Amino acid sequence: MAFELNSLVRTNILALKPYSSARDEFSGQEGVFLDANENSFGSVLVERPLHRYPDPLQHKLKQKIAEQEDCEPAQIFLGNGSDEAIDLLMRIFCEPNQDCIMTLPPTYGMYEVSAAINAVSVKEVPLLPEVFQIDLPELQAKLSEHCPKLLFICSPNNPTANLIAAETVEQILNDFEGIVVLDEAYIDFCKEASFLPKLRQYPNLVILRTFSKAWGLAGIRLGMAFASPEIISLFNKVKPPYNVNLLTQQEAYKALRNLEFKETLQNKVIESRTELEKELGTLDCVLKIYPSDANFILIKVEDANDLYDYLVEHRVVVRNRSKVIENTLRITVGTPAENEMLISALLAYEVGN
Ligand SMILES: *Cc1c(COP(=O)(O)O)cnc(C)c1O
Repeated sequence: MAFELNSLVRTNILALKPYSSARDEFSGQEGVFLDANENSFGSVLVERPLHRYPDPLQHKLKQKIAEQEDCEPAQIFLGNGSDEAIDLLMRIFCEPNQDCIMTLPPTYGMYEVSAAINAVSVKEVPLLPEVFQIDLPELQAKLSEHCPKLLFICSPNNPTANLIAAETVEQILNDFEGIVVLDEAYIDFCKEASFLPKLRQYPNLVILRTFSKAWGLAGIRLGMAFASPEIISLFNKVKPPYNVNLLTQQEAYKALRNLEFKETLQNKVIESRTELEKELGTLDCVLKIYPSDANFILIKVEDANDLYDYLVEHRVVVRNRSKVIENTLRITVGTPAENEMLISALLAYEVGN
């Protein structure tokens, strides 16, 4: 494989001289800071020292993440959710009205939306029906035909909940000359290992992770991208200078020091998933339960629209995925009490039908 990063990057981005913020130019700890037009007298929230701009490159937080993930801080980008990383990838690599990306539907909707916002076209190679694995010969043919700048692989995949076979991903990483974006938002809920240890081996690999799922911190909006230091430099060039606010940096740092509790949460979700799968399996209105490597379960039913409406009426909100996979509902694993409410509603639905 002949991977050449600079030939993939948009020329205006290669030439870009990034904005240099006050905190980029002087990042020492001590001194009289009259360089950033902050409020020298403090903040309206008197007790909290929030009047200074945050570290634009989140050094302290990245150091901690690097220790836990056994990588270098220079291999990490942090953004306002993974969604920011997805958008930046489009802007770094894809020339509007010219370049394309490739997705493997049914998958996460943001890839397509982000592409549309950036005037980038989307070529699709559907996953194989029911098993939701990659059709490798078809993908290889389409990659050669369209030469997308980015290929998005979501594993475990949303909304199908399954892991994509690692050998297939590896084969693609070896063959494809563009960027492979591997979205591992749900990797903590499955037994299979992350591709992170292989980062050095594949200069075309970008791994997306998030604090929104296993860490239980969807509210702080923090996403991660792991890639070569060269790709991360491009992210840093294009991102808004202060894209991760101070509160988020502080909360995430606290969370990282509590890795044990993340694992506790992770296990709770997995246990609850097993229990929910079991209970769903006893219901006649559930025609199929797709195997899950994530914190949600995809089920097939007779009439998903009807069941969805019924559940909403009974104040149980799930995701109707029928537009992408016929008659399916995506159900986030809840607490035992929440799952019980769902199951009761499903039982009542069966009685009424
Ligand atoms: C939830 C999810 C994310 C996380 O997005 P954030 O912006 O970090 O909250 C990323 N990818 C997929 C496939 C998801 O389902």
